[in-house]
Amino acid sequence: MAYIGRFAPSPTGPLHFGSLVAAVASYLEAKTNHGQWLVRMEDLDQPREVAGAANEILHTLTAFGFEWDEDVTYQSQRNLAYEALLSELKALNRVYPCTCTRKEIAEVSMANGIEGAIYPKTCLNHAIKNNHPVAWRIKTEDHNIQFEDAVQGSFQQNLMQEIGDFVLKRADGLFAYQLAVVVDDAAQGITHIVRGSDLLTSTPRQIYLQEQLGLLTPHYTHIPIATNAAGQKLSKQTLALGINPQESVIQLWQSLAFLNQHPPTDLKEGNLAQCWEWAMANWQLTKVPKIKQIAI
Ligand code: GLU
Ligand code: ZN
Repeated sequence: MAYIGRFAPSPTGPLHFGSLVAAVASYLEAKTNHGQWLVRMEDLDQPREVAGAANEILHTLTAFGFEWDEDVTYQSQRNLAYEALLSELKALNRVYPCTCTRKEIAEVSMANGIEGAIYPKTCLNHAIKNNHPVAWRIKTEDHNIQFEDAVQGSFQQNLMQEIGDFVLKRADGLFAYQLAVVVDDAAQGITHIVRGSDLLTSTPRQIYLQEQLGLLTPHYTHIPIATNAAGQKLSKQTLALGINPQESVIQLWQSLAFLNQHPPTDLKEGNLAQCWEWAMANWQLTKVPKIKQIAI
C-alpha cells in the first residue's frame, strides 16, 4: 500500500519542541516507508492564529531540512469542503443544531466527560431558540470505538459516555478541528497519521466521523508528548525548549533522543545532513516509548 503521511501544525505560534518531535517522527516514518510526507497548515481558528506564524513554521521546517511533497494546504481555504461534508451528515440526520450557551450547558449537564461537561442533548429533545447562532453537533452512540495504535497499543472510548455529542461547526461559524481533520486527511489520501499523544483521545471521534461519512480510517501512531516530572504537558507556558533553526543539528539530535532512537553523541558535532542520514538509516518506530518525561 502506498504510504502518505502528514504533519499538520496549527499556526498559533512558532514551532516548539513537541511539534518538532511530531514532525521528525512523521517524516522518518513516511520516508523510511518510501512514502510521501505532506504539510497541512491547520489555520482554521483564525481568531487564535498568530500573524506570520504559518510562514515562520514553514521557514523553520525548511531550515531543519524537511522536504514536503506537494504544496502546503491551508484549512482556512477549505470551508466549502467542510460545509459539503456537514451537509452530508445533515442529510443522513446524524447532526442537529444547538443554540445552547456554554453557561446553559454547564448548568444542566450532569456528567463530566474527559473534555468537560457532556452535552445533555437539550437541543436534540427540545426546540432550539429562535434568532440565535446555531452550532451543529453530531449524535454519538453508546458503544466502544476501538483501534490499534502503533505505539500506544489498543485504545477504546465510548463517545456517548466519555465525550458526548460533539460540535462540528461552532455557533460563530468556525468548523471544529475534529471535522476538518477528517475531511482533509481523506481528501489528501492520508494513510498514516503520526502525531502527539495529546490527540489520542480525539482519535475515536475522528474514526466515528470517518465511519459516518464512509471514509477510510488511516493507521494511527501517537508518539509521546513531552511532559514535566509532574506529568503535565509542556505548553507555551511551561516549555523552556524553544526551537531555534540556528541550533538545528542539536535539536534534531534531541528529538531523536526523545524518541529513544539513541543517536550517537558525536552526531551532535556533525552537520544536519549527517544527522538526517543517520536518522533515515536507523529509525525504528518500535523504539519509541509510550510516554516520556523530561526534566526542565
Ligand atoms: N493541528 C493539530 C495540532 O497542532 C494537529 C492535528 C493532527 O495532527 O491531527 O495540535
Ligand atoms: Zn443545545
